[in-house]
Amino acid sequence: MSEKDVRAELAEHLRTFAQAGIDGVSRDRTWRRRPADEASEPSLFADSEGDASVAAGAAPPAETLEQVRADLGDCTRCKLHRLGRRQIVFGVGNPHAKLMFIGEAPGHDEDTQGIPFVGRAGQLLTKIIEAIDLTREDVYIANVIKCRPPENRNPESDEVASCEPFLFRQVRAIRPRLIVALGTWAAQTLLRTNDPISRLRGRVFQYGDARLIPTFHPAYLLRSPERKRDVWEDMKKVRSMLCGEDAGDSQ
Ligand code: URA
Repeated sequence: MSEKDVRAELAEHLRTFAQAGIDGVSRDRTWRRRPADEASEPSLFADSEGDASVAAGAAPPAETLEQVRADLGDCTRCKLHRLGRRQIVFGVGNPHAKLMFIGEAPGHDEDTQGIPFVGRAGQLLTKIIEAIDLTREDVYIANVIKCRPPENRNPESDEVASCEPFLFRQVRAIRPRLIVALGTWAAQTLLRTNDPISRLRGRVFQYGDARLIPTFHPAYLLRSPERKRDVWEDMKKVRSMLCGEDAGDSQ
């Protein structure tokens, strides 16, 4: 990455933090430590360190989704723009959704159509959404990474670092009541933890003003259909929390 790109990325991070009311950063090492490093538990409300939950949820919405999309532009902030992506896959759905699904990164079908979750895993996600009597138009669907990684490899840390501020800004613009993190990648990015999804699922996390429910990724369910029962349990919780029947005691 060129120095110019690094500077632009840094400016992007600072802008996101500023919008969350954080007006500076420190080079002091102690500021870099996150509670999750110490306790191996996700950091939920580390409010002075530019924690993701603060950037995403706690401050009032500063901008619209259109403004976030316009700022993303024809993004060249990370190397994915020259590694074969056809287009940016920003997100789809209701800009005022109470429920938001967040996945990992676009695959081949999403890259072709410019819409998240339209391939086989996406069709399963659509069924999961419909199973709780909602449609894709009721919710908002996005990914941590907006461009397809080559050969569908996992996103790399510099790619996540470039892209996640836009996800946080999307969350802040939408202000969902509930976020479902689909799979390890989304859950770990949002919760700032290295815990595997198997440890995170089944729990409810506070995430800024929202509750966050980690669950298995639909692509994993295609390979391990016996885990669909777990996801159904999670979705029943989502439904009752949206209906206000379940306060969803969070961690
Ligand atoms: N998997 C994801 O994580 N996101 C998509 O958009 C499609 C498949």
